[in-house]
Amino acid sequence: MKPIDLLHLDTPGIIGCYLVETDDGPALFDCGPATCVEHLKTGLGERGLALTDLRHLLLSHIHLDHAGAAGTLVREHPGLQVHVSEIGVPHVIDPSKLEASARRLYGDAFDALWGELAPVPAENVHAVGAEVVGLECFPTPGHASHHVSYLDSQGTLYAGDAAGVRIGGGAFVMPPCPPPEFDLEAWEQTIFEIERRAPDRLALIHFGAYNEVEAHLATLRETLDRWAQWIADGMDEQTFVAAARQDVSQTDPDLADAYDRAAPYWHHYRGVERYWRKRREGTA
Ligand SMILES: [Zn+2]
Repeated sequence: MKPIDLLHLDTPGIIGCYLVETDDGPALFDCGPATCVEHLKTGLGERGLALTDLRHLLLSHIHLDHAGAAGTLVREHPGLQVHVSEIGVPHVIDPSKLEASARRLYGDAFDALWGELAPVPAENVHAVGAEVVGLECFPTPGHASHHVSYLDSQGTLYAGDAAGVRIGGGAFVMPPCPPPEFDLEAWEQTIFEIERRAPDRLALIHFGAYNEVEAHLATLRETLDRWAQWIADGMDEQTFVAAARQDVSQTDPDLADAYDRAAPYWHHYRGVERYWRKRREGTA
């Protein structure tokens, strides 16, 4: 249950993806960005596989750190079948809007972080149903509205970002809350949906698989509520970033930078601030 480390920006333990045995041959759960394709191939090679041995790519959502390489991979391996939520389908086929939105968020850092965002031919793209190649698939919105997770018969939940970020051997569970789709209520419901299925382990993209599922999800819920409350109470971005770093450091003294690399603190501020602002506007 070890992820393939994609060594994003040559840093271990930030972005990983998973090789999944399915009813229809080997699949990959998420694929990382195009900047990591060579590391992905190396990781597959260490498991005795070439890219062309993969039958399916199961995507949690279309953010670039999870799905950016999809088009690049299909160009090289046209037999690869890509599964994504219905809302994600048009963006995988034509990623131009997604790219424009990500370029607004990341600015000049975009190319070095993510690289190419190639389209996937429509015939390779499949909207997920309740079952995908033998895995249960269900919506897990909150981090992104179109996020889905996959549960296999061994009790592994391929969670994506829906079960948060936990890296470097840390105990802190961080909810990545980027704009524009972060939704507190949806995420709280997602945590219930995961608990209801009682998986034995959670496979996170950032980073690794964790067995103590109940405690992990309890920590995720606590952090989500605490951070959302801080921002609801009017905390500004600079104060939030410092407070969030301090929050991580209290649990894991040396890992505040590592968590920031996986999902920057300022993203959480902007996502949560936008969520509350939209809610206020909606009720005004
Ligand atoms: Zn994401």
